[in-house]
Amino acid sequence: MPLRIGLFGGTFDPPHVGHLVTAVNVRHALNLDLVVLMVANVPWQKIEGRRITAAEHRYAMVAAAVADVPGLVAGRDEIDHGGPSYTADTLATLALDNPGATLFTIVGDDAAAGFETWDRYEEVAKRSTLVVVDRPGEPVTLPERFSWERVEVPRLDVSSTDLRLRFHDGRPADFLITDPVLAVIESLELYGAAE
Ligand code: ATP
Ligand code: MG
Repeated sequence: MPLRIGLFGGTFDPPHVGHLVTAVNVRHALNLDLVVLMVANVPWQKIEGRRITAAEHRYAMVAAAVADVPGLVAGRDEIDHGGPSYTADTLATLALDNPGATLFTIVGDDAAAGFETWDRYEEVAKRSTLVVVDRPGEPVTLPERFSWERVEVPRLDVSSTDLRLRFHDGRPADFLITDPVLAVIESLELYGAAE
């Protein structure tokens, strides 16, 4: 049976409950077999401005986050591919690895707002249905020529940026991030958590 697969790409620096709640709810709403939390190798739209945690460490956190969650998997195709990560390439890889699969690209409003700045976004729209979920700010409307839909998920105003600040300031991250991810952060001494 061909699979229905959701590609949920991100930097995941670190992965948090907003990502997990989104992934499990989109999976349920669209009856997906799998949602792949795909760890960007070099997120080229983000490389300026701050130091990004090593891709393998971000992958370790995502793997820990999804370990006990049915239907969610951590993806490392973009890390294995190397170089900058482009969703168009990742969808091509997923299509090759899963013949006949129906593909969905899951994005929050902030990511959807910049969709037409993505490399080969027309190819992304051709290869997959875009699935947009709410994030703070205006809900995005995409052009009708793209096949896209909005899925309602519990709206959690949690971001990796806020979490990095919390670790930096020593404020609690409890309940915003899951315990298996916290354990990885502690053992790898990420975000100055051991200082
Ligand atoms: P940062 O603050 O570093 O940008 P982030 O929290 O936005 O991190 P990303 O890795 O940039 O996380 O996001 C990956 C994907 O997850 C994007 O499509 C983004 O819109 C979505 N996303 C992030 N946080 C949430 C959330 N709280 N609810 C729903 N979607 C989210
Ligand atoms: Mg973001």
